[in-house]
Amino acid sequence: MGVTKAQLFELGACEEAIAELEQARDRLPGEIAAAENRAQAARDAVEAAHEELADFEKTRRSQEAGLQDCEAQRTKFQGQTALVKTNEEYSALLREIDGMNDRISELEEGILLSMEAIDGAKSRLESVEKEQEIVERGHRSAAKGLHRDLARVEEDLARRGGEREERLQLLGSGVVALYRRVTKAHGSGVAILRDGRCSGCHRAIPPQTMNLVAAGELHTCSNCQRILVPGEP
Ligand SMILES: [Zn+2]
Repeated sequence: MGVTKAQLFELGACEEAIAELEQARDRLPGEIAAAENRAQAARDAVEAAHEELADFEKTRRSQEAGLQDCEAQRTKFQGQTALVKTNEEYSALLREIDGMNDRISELEEGILLSMEAIDGAKSRLESVEKEQEIVERGHRSAAKGLHRDLARVEEDLARRGGEREERLQLLGSGVVALYRRVTKAHGSGVAILRDGRCSGCHRAIPPQTMNLVAAGELHTCSNCQRILVPGEP
């Protein structure tokens, strides 16, 4: 058939390189997505910190509006004390004023707590924004590198795929047919002989077969039918 050991070796090396490239091609999109998820999580944290701050500020605004209302109400009651005619009316107004004073104290306390909460939310926002900036910067360069890797892997795969096809054709149509049949069944048509075993199914290969393959003869693994190729040129 005119097959040489070098041809078989090159075919095996090509097949192995393609398997590695395929693994990288399958792995890289997941790594790209994971990097994107980390950046998105950092953006989400900033978004959440903004919302938290906005909530506290909204609460404070409503407390301040409530305080103004109560103070206006108290001023109104205080003005009325000069106008009432009876002790009962006067006492009733004083009770209203006391009630307003209590309400005003509550609101003032609430406003102090809100201001503390706002300060806390501002410093959390600041720290998650810093974190996001770092993550984002790292993400941009990582994503760029990963996309570049993926493009290179795809390019290499196309080139290596073409090379494998050429190498197969050189081995003749019988080998091509066998290769296609085994690839269809097992995902790869070639197995490399390493440490006395078939790299496809890990079955031990008889020394006699090892020697014949090393001499450039075409043999298949009796277990998985893959074409056996030497592990060294
Ligand atoms: Zn095998």
